Parts: sequence; C-alpha cells; structure tokens
Amino acid sequence: MSRASKIALAPDLRDCDERTVRAWIEPMAVTPLGGGCYDVESHDDTYTVDVPGGRCTCPDYYFRGTNCKHRRRVAIEITQGRVPSPGRRRADCDNCGRESFVPETAVIPLCDDCRLDDGDVVVDRESADTLVVRRLTPDRADEYVIEATGTTVAEHPTNDRYPAEDPVVEAVYLGEQLRTDEPRVYAFPYSRLRKAEDAEIVD
Ligand SMILES: [Zn+2]
Ligand SMILES: [Zn+2]
Repeated sequence: MSRASKIALAPDLRDCDERTVRAWIEPMAVTPLGGGCYDVESHDDTYTVDVPGGRCTCPDYYFRGTNCKHRRRVAIEITQGRVPSPGRRRADCDNCGRESFVPETAVIPLCDDCRLDDGDVVVDRESADTLVVRRLTPDRADEYVIEATGTTVAEHPTNDRYPAEDPVVEAVYLGEQLRTDEPRVYAFPYSRLRKAEDAEIVD
C-alpha cells in the first residue's frame, strides 16, 4: 500500500496579500446569476462579478482596477465546487435525481454520469435494442423531420410518450455498426434512450 503524500488544505494566509486573506476569511454570500456573473454580498454591500469579462462593480475594482476580494472569492468558490463555473447551473439530474452543475443551456438537466455523448452505447427504452450515439443534435423532436417518412421525430407513433421538446439524438444500431461501414442513422427523442450498463453491451 502506498502512503498518501502530505498536502495543505488551504493556502498559507501568512504569505498572502490582504485582499486574498479577506477573500478567504470574510463572511460573503456568492449567488450565481447565470451568464458568468455572480452577486457577492459582504458586510459592506453587494457587488456583481463578471467572470468572463474579468470585472467587478465594486469601487476597489473601478478605481484601482485591482483583482478585488470579490473576484478572488468567486474564483475560490468555483474552484471548491460551491458555485457553478461560468456556463453551468445547479440542477437535479432528470434521470438519477443527483444534484450537480449542468450546462446552462441544457434543455434536460443531466449529470455527467447520465448525459449522452457521441460514442455512448445506449438502450432504446421501447425496443431494448442497443445503439451507439452518433450525434446529439440541437433540434427539438417536434422540429426534426425524418427524411424517410416526412414526419417529425415527435410525430412518429412510437415516440408519443416522450416530450416534444426533447433534443433529438442520432444513433445507429450497435449490431449494424459492427457489420457495415455505413450503418443507417436513426433519430430518437433524448429521453427514449438511456445509457447502457456494461453488462448490456453485447452484440
Ligand atoms: Zn469587487
Ligand atoms: Zn444523473
């Protein structure tokens, strides 16, 4: 058994400048606003930090252009996973219920374990067939038209149990993918597919 190596859990504040010390030890409440902005409430006032823009609305930043305590505090809270990083929001996973930070624009909030990605092996909840995800499209099931039938994915008879606003996932049957270089691509509403367990991945 290898022994763990020694690490510090917090920066040595004796070596830090005053603003960093305050960012760590002052009581502050950080509230994500979306779009990479965060409200930081401290004893004196509430200011807004814009992370992508590298700005803060406080006088310290305005007059001195410094990396004020608010910007430092937001960086600390993002690093520690207390608030979502820019482009993400806190949500309960639609599949497993676990709370995590999901992409801000996600139509269906899903944790990293449940989110479907290109190349994932998935199971069709209707047929129990195993498929491989080719592409997660930006189109909704009631917008995406299936070429062969001229109807939308949402209108397809086997999809009436799934939400019309689901994003469409393009996938190929695993068996067909193993047999041919150009397997036919099918379109599914997102929630009709679930990630396959390892034991299910058989041809
Ligand atoms: Zn500030
Ligand atoms: Zn999940």
